[in-house]
Amino acid sequence: MSRYKDEQCRICRREGQKLFLKGSRCYTDKCSVARRNYAPGDHGQKNKKLSEYGTQLREKQKTKSFYGVGEKQFRKYFDMASNKKGNTGEELLQILESRLDNVVYRLGYGSSRVQARQLVNHGLFEVNGQKVDIPSYLIKAGDVISVRESKKEVKIIKENAEINAARPVPEWLEKDVEKLNGKVIRLALREDVDLPVEEHLIVELYSK
Ligand code: SF4
Repeated sequence: MSRYKDEQCRICRREGQKLFLKGSRCYTDKCSVARRNYAPGDHGQKNKKLSEYGTQLREKQKTKSFYGVGEKQFRKYFDMASNKKGNTGEELLQILESRLDNVVYRLGYGSSRVQARQLVNHGLFEVNGQKVDIPSYLIKAGDVISVRESKKEVKIIKENAEINAARPVPEWLEKDVEKLNGKVIRLALREDVDLPVEEHLIVELYSK
């Protein structure tokens, strides 16, 4: 069980950086990266030089873990990004940022993307007044994401809203904690994304 509970921290340690997968614990000195910043396993403290392919693969795995997306879905997003006119890597990040579970997390109504996904799955949110319980739902500019009226007293929502009230919201979103909602001003741009990823490596990987 403890091994399972540490699984998300093992992902961060493997990537050598905080991916903020566990909510409030990530901001404390209990964070495993803060305590043991080397890869898990018997050989974790040895410096391994990665091949070009290995480096590209790591960037993809890191990005998947950050957003909690599986391989099939991630590939689908990459194909969507490839079909857009802009830079494929940046388009990919914009699509990932547009997922409803990510937006709920960014607005502070979920303490982590994992928890935000559970809350969306449980039908706590609506988009433009319509219930949406699909975490992968892609929001658009102008959308309003709200906690549903009947769910506003749910303890975890009230706690998150209070704890995260001071957490900065990215420039592409605005939130109203009193009303428990948030608005998408515009879609996320590359400079809005705080994930330390070299997205061109993912493009190179999929272009082989
Ligand atoms: Fe664990 Fe969060 Fe630290 Fe990652 S950032 S190692 S998930 S506590």
